[in-house]
Amino acid sequence: MVSNLRIGHGYDVHRLVEGRRCIIGGVDIPHSKGLLGHSDADVLAHALADAILGACRGGDIGKLFPDTDPAYAGADSLKLLAAVMEHARSLGYEFVDADCTIACQEPKIGPHREAMARAIGCPVENIGVKATTTEKLGWEGEGEGIGAWSVCLLERCS
Ligand code: MG
Repeated sequence: MVSNLRIGHGYDVHRLVEGRRCIIGGVDIPHSKGLLGHSDADVLAHALADAILGACRGGDIGKLFPDTDPAYAGADSLKLLAAVMEHARSLGYEFVDADCTIACQEPKIGPHREAMARAIGCPVENIGVKATTTEKLGWEGEGEGIGAWSVCLLERCS
């Protein structure tokens, strides 16, 4: 039997700098530094968006929303995530489930599933988000940036 399930993986990194907001999974987190990027640099939303695009073989967010395009300067990544899911649906896929991991020493990561679930249009139970420190090792541990990984399952419906 041929499965209609497709798996996708996404990975993203943004540098932590002073003078920027720290938006993770659509949640603006109070922190002394924020994430640097052309859009709002929401590393978690970007990793999940790339996982969705990987599963529907729909390219990547760099291709869909080029960081050279002024239209996406300061863009709300939840809107990009919603557009990515719309793109996946236009290719005949429906969202099934996703799980994400954020690697950072700080800030403490709060509840980030609700806003992303709303953007995708899925139950909050179908998105997992967890965080890990790297025991102060490497660039995440030294607070130079935040990395995020995501895997997701889509089902081909047409
Ligand atoms: Mg990014």
